[in-house]
Amino acid sequence: MLELVPQEVDVAYEMVGIRQAIDELELQFSRLAATFDKGAYWEQEGSNSPIDWIRFNCHLTSNAAGARIAVGENLGRMAESAQAMQAGEIGFAHLVELARTADAVGKAFDETKLLELARENSPGKFHYKCMHYRHSVDAKAVAEEQAELAETRFLHLNTQDDGGLFITGLLDPVGGALVRNALEPLARSSGADDYRDAPKRWADALVELASSKTRIQMQVTSSVETLLDLVGAPGAETEFSLPISSKTVERWACDSSLSRILMQDSVVIDVGRSERTIKGPRRRALISRDKHCQWPGCERTASKCDGHHVVHWLHGGGGEIENQILLCHRHHWMVHEGCWQLVKTDDGRIVTIAPTVTFGLPRGPD
Ligand SMILES: [Zn+2]
Ligand SMILES: [Zn+2]
Repeated sequence: MLELVPQEVDVAYEMVGIRQAIDELELQFSRLAATFDKGAYWEQEGSNSPIDWIRFNCHLTSNAAGARIAVGENLGRMAESAQAMQAGEIGFAHLVELARTADAVGKAFDETKLLELARENSPGKFHYKCMHYRHSVDAKAVAEEQAELAETRFLHLNTQDDGGLFITGLLDPVGGALVRNALEPLARSSGADDYRDAPKRWADALVELASSKTRIQMQVTSSVETLLDLVGAPGAETEFSLPISSKTVERWACDSSLSRILMQDSVVIDVGRSERTIKGPRRRALISRDKHCQWPGCERTASKCDGHHVVHWLHGGGGEIENQILLCHRHHWMVHEGCWQLVKTDDGRIVTIAPTVTFGLPRGPD
């Protein structure tokens, strides 16, 4: 047992005390920031927005400035939470999360319920709880936000003079979770003789993944209500990601090696095995009929495609080949998360219909 000398205990409690004092100041700052936000001084000063003025003059990031304005603006409906913070039960970070949630859900904001969760969870964990709460209040908005996040994705591959490949990039939470899920088992240390550091193991895992033929298995825990897009349902959960929307689960369940755990009233009612929904002779028939992605103009080969169910099995669609078409990853995403519609004409052609709300730049079939 490590014996604590008195000074260490003092240091520990002094830290807690100082942090509480800082939180109190943050609260005062937030009140002022919300008042400032209503005024016009920032405009006279030639700033683009109140956030911009605060960002520059108070040395904060825009995100931090925006968070403080949000807290200040929402204090009227977070009075109990502000008191809980002053009593040291929760931190300012919890207040930020509460304010962001209040902004996102509007009238549906339930302070009592969320404050209880804030008391029980660290700020990081509370963030996930709030995401689930938002999903339960407005699943559509969460799905739209995730689809929008996917528009921030990028990956740069630059071949250097010596032939090495320099990789930089950013993936959205759902795409990121898939990649982590695929790389994690391959990146584990292989024992006492494994002298590779973590970055080297990740690099080796990526190369190993690129040369493997097996499909990735992803485990998703979801309630039946989530899958059916019912109001009040929380988001589904994977090991590494934020709560994910029912649209993504729907796509994964359409035809992927998804292991699913379905819950109803906190009881496991179905554990799906991770294998393709469409397989064997049926898959071969589908491949020989379609040959490539059926999105107009796309020619991604069958091996890169999923078998998409035109009417999803959740909504009573069957496994017959007439109800299936091959779609590549991107076009499968566009149909589920992107809300594009596919219509089969009488002469068997596929016509695409754009969603009324598009994410990023509107674009036609490509
Ligand atoms: Zn599908
Ligand atoms: Zn395609």
